[in-house]
Amino acid sequence: MKIRNKIIFSKPYVSKNANLFIDDVLKSGFHQGDGKYTQLCHAYFESRYKIPRALLTTSCTDALEMCSILLDIKYGDEVILPSYTFVSTALPFAQRGAKLVFVDSSSSHPNMCLEELKNSITNKTKAIVVVHYAGIAIDMDELKSIAGKIPIIEDAAHSIESDYKGKQLGTIGTLGTFSFHSTKNISCGEGGLLSINDPNLIERAEIIREKGTNRTAFFRGEVDKYGWVDTGSSFLPSEFNAAILYSQLEELEYIQNKRIKIWNYYYNKLKLVCDKKKEIYLPSIPEYAKNNAHMFFLLAKDEKIRSHLIESLRNNNAQATFHYQALHASSYAKKLGIETKLPNAEFYSDSLMRLPLHLEITKSDVDLIVSTIDDNSK
Ligand SMILES: *Cc1c(COP(=O)(O)O)cnc(C)c1O
Repeated sequence: MKIRNKIIFSKPYVSKNANLFIDDVLKSGFHQGDGKYTQLCHAYFESRYKIPRALLTTSCTDALEMCSILLDIKYGDEVILPSYTFVSTALPFAQRGAKLVFVDSSSSHPNMCLEELKNSITNKTKAIVVVHYAGIAIDMDELKSIAGKIPIIEDAAHSIESDYKGKQLGTIGTLGTFSFHSTKNISCGEGGLLSINDPNLIERAEIIREKGTNRTAFFRGEVDKYGWVDTGSSFLPSEFNAAILYSQLEELEYIQNKRIKIWNYYYNKLKLVCDKKKEIYLPSIPEYAKNNAHMFFLLAKDEKIRSHLIESLRNNNAQATFHYQALHASSYAKKLGIETKLPNAEFYSDSLMRLPLHLEITKSDVDLIVSTIDDNSK
């Protein structure tokens, strides 16, 4: 019997010019940050997404940390955020002593429930952080009207090439953050981007990113020497990361088209299966949202059904997996004294399941995965 190759869950794409650009960086002698490839990436995002200022960072986590510093989050401030997300959405605010106010997901989608958000705002709320889960947009008009003057940070880690009513996600709130971690649609190993949508924050963002110095302005010839002017850290990636990222940006449309094709093939096949089942179903995508094929997920009725499906797929050499463990129920949240119960976030922790999605997934891989799901569910 022929042993099937493992269908791995995620695999970073290697772009055509990756080696050429890395060689170019090596030979140039300019290996630190903010060289040619970083500038090319900045210009690309600023023009494609119409961002007043885009800054590459060492990760999305670091871009979020820059947001926390930029908005002067202090001990006792309240920061509202979803519970069903990655640790990085919370960590930079917890670190600066903010009180984390976790909001539940909606019942129809892992995204934050905006009705619940309304009830969580107080006069101590200093920021609202949202995640567009799987690149599916939060209703940004509704969010903005609820937030009023409170700054909005969009954790757009999943949301490259996804929009809300034609506007790229991550560019609509006050600040937006992207991830180029290996598991995202485009990647450079570890990397991120801060989208500064409020022009008043640009100058200080450049300083915070450069160890609290005005070196960026100095390189532009705006000041005659640079020095220590504010707080900050080292948030800029090396030119090696930027070169890899730029090689992927050159092929962004190819990467996205291919992912979307695979996603649609999954969806059409799996919809036929889910329509006749009671234990599993597909998520609903709101009409205003675009799907950027960051993730393919489905929902099981409970944890037992999900575990059975994940195990059945593993027995067929396909790596399916669960996703976030709701942050409000984490052991660190307990240490912070958080005791809320958020039933929808807990439901997604127990029942959401992700399927393999990367550019080497074939139709026969999807066929096998879908038939395994069909054979092992009611
Ligand atoms: C991946 C991810 C992050 C962290 O991104 P890094 O670039 O690895 O720091 C943050 N938030 C969400 C929602 C993510 O999926």
